[in-house]
Amino acid sequence: MTKNKIALITGASRGIGRAIAIIFAKDGYDIIINYRSSEEEANTTQTLFREANPSITTTLLQADVSSSEEVTTMFSRIPSLDVLINNAGWSTQIAHGDLESLSPEIYNRVMDTNFKGPYLCTREAIKIMTQGGSIINIASLSGLTGRGSNVIYCASKAALINLTTTMARALGPRGIRVNCIAPGLVETELTRSWRDMHTAAREQCALGRQATVEDIATATLYLTKMQGTTGEVLKVDGGQYLEQV
Ligand code: NAP
Repeated sequence: MTKNKIALITGASRGIGRAIAIIFAKDGYDIIINYRSSEEEANTTQTLFREANPSITTTLLQADVSSSEEVTTMFSRIPSLDVLINNAGWSTQIAHGDLESLSPEIYNRVMDTNFKGPYLCTREAIKIMTQGGSIINIASLSGLTGRGSNVIYCASKAALINLTTTMARALGPRGIRVNCIAPGLVETELTRSWRDMHTAAREQCALGRQATVEDIATATLYLTKMQGTTGEVLKVDGGQYLEQV
């Protein structure tokens, strides 16, 4: 019997991460769900994709991706890996001119979750991607346009796009492809209260609708399958970018 490939999705207890976990489960991957504190939601994700494909193995691993110690401990429980999706992320809405409201705590949480986390997970993942692999970073349109929930969020996603480029170059010779998705504004728990941003985003989308969590998940799976592609930044945004440049 051939072994299933294994995918680790960080921040998969809900939202975009959950949708990615479900689509990879349907595609026959064994799934490792990482979450930080939402154990109940992570359990729901696991139930959902067990229903989607009962033949796969699923594992829940709690870890804060911004902690080097916790990431190392999480990876010590993973013997091998084919796909890493760096999805865990966080932000809060602060007007770009209002730098006083960007406290050091917010600065650190945004940068540490959105940039340091993917860096730490990449560092550990490539030790166990012995047969090559695929790493997908979930960045944001804001990393390309400088328009987003706050200035540090935009910068953290720009840094993640840059990490995609450098790692794609460095890891290509080892058969590890590194790509990036840049979603436009998507309706999830993270963004649900940002009504003014959703109104503006809808008006900007050439397709007349924003991207959904399922759109992001589909693009993530396809990017993983595109064996000839590395260092790519794929926008999935309903055409929102077209009105932002
Ligand atoms: P969400 O619904 O808030 O889900 C975020 C997930 O990340 C949760 O599972 C959360 O779990 C986990 N997480 C947060 N901090 C973590 C940490 N330090 N360690 C481990 N897990 C952590 O957000 P989402 O909208 O699905 O966002 C997913 C990704 O897409 C993020 O990187 C976000 O920046 C990016 N993105 C989102 C949008 C959008 O409009 N929604 C647009 C562009 C990019 P816990 O609750 O357990 O912490």
